[in-house]
Amino acid sequence: MEPRDQQLVVALRIRPLSEAELEQGAAVVAHKVGDQTVVLMDPGEDPEDTLRTHRSREKTFTFDTVFDQHASQGDVYRATAQHLVAGVLSGYNATVFAYGPSGAGKTHTMLGVDAEPGIYLRTLTDLFQAIEGTREDADYSVSMSYLEVYNEVLRDLLNPSSGFLDLREDARGAVQIAGLTEVSTSNAQEIMQLLTRGNRQRTQEPTATNRTSSRSHAVLQVTVRQQSRGPDAAGEACVGRLFMVDLAGSERAAQTQNRGKRLQEGAHINRSLLALSNCIAALSERGGGRAHFVNFRDSKLTRLLKDALGGNSRTVMVAHISPASTHFEESRSTLLYAHRARNI
Ligand code: ADP
Ligand code: MG
Repeated sequence: MEPRDQQLVVALRIRPLSEAELEQGAAVVAHKVGDQTVVLMDPGEDPEDTLRTHRSREKTFTFDTVFDQHASQGDVYRATAQHLVAGVLSGYNATVFAYGPSGAGKTHTMLGVDAEPGIYLRTLTDLFQAIEGTREDADYSVSMSYLEVYNEVLRDLLNPSSGFLDLREDARGAVQIAGLTEVSTSNAQEIMQLLTRGNRQRTQEPTATNRTSSRSHAVLQVTVRQQSRGPDAAGEACVGRLFMVDLAGSERAAQTQNRGKRLQEGAHINRSLLALSNCIAALSERGGGRAHFVNFRDSKLTRLLKDALGGNSRTVMVAHISPASTHFEESRSTLLYAHRARNI
């Protein structure tokens, strides 16, 4: 099946070795093999072990797509989020997640840099372009909001002084966030400016592993409302929602020397990431005809995304790892997590 037809796509992106990793003399232990496979070597292995008696410690993981350091931002976009645009315009919901430990490349994939913009800008540009192309037969309006989930609490990144936001369900069970700023917009650049402003409000704290680590999930929500034109246009607008989520760093609390507040954050992050993988794994079984109970209630993140993870919605997860031997354990747990989301 083509990725565009799948309800769930799980991709892996391996970033280039960083300067710091090179200076530490790190070896590359994650190799892309073919378009869908990564091989992870345990650096604890004896390099003299030419008979490969420990071959079982070389692990292979398969995904819908694997990107290595040669993949451009455009390559990643075209194989992942691009396929969501048409559906959102037709009133379907979709979600893109960037998953992985701090420093593995999540924000690079989602936000990118001016010269190499990421999934946010590319998706929004295509979305507005597609709307231009259909001007004749429908009226579209687009709005956005941007929030973070930090320690199981929601904060409006476009209006941080508003305090904690309340997550509710309306009479029909649709998710509502009371008081969340929703900005109407007509171009992608405007959204990017709001995002950049919002990012300065994100909860970012250094951890004991000495990297700047995002301790919150940042959720960009883009809502597309379509009103048909003409005499027999129905009264009700058709609404498609696209969520683009830069998840909190997935490094486990146990792996850092975190204490107190940091440890507490780690526990909340682990819990919500576990709830997320449970939901995705259950949803990935939908096509198989087996009825799976999907428990969205286990975390704020999954409650928030309930309407975008069920039904006819589409989900893309891009998992991120460093190729370095110094990050082997983190990479292994990331691969296991992403793989589990795909095939429970
Ligand atoms: P995260 O958001 O997961 O903590 P970042 O996206 O901030 O990680 O990436 C960490 C560093 O690695 C940044 O300096 C970023 O520019 C760089 N980086 C990440 N992915 C890539 C990539 N595919 N190509 C080049 N540089 C990258
Ligand atoms: Mg980041």
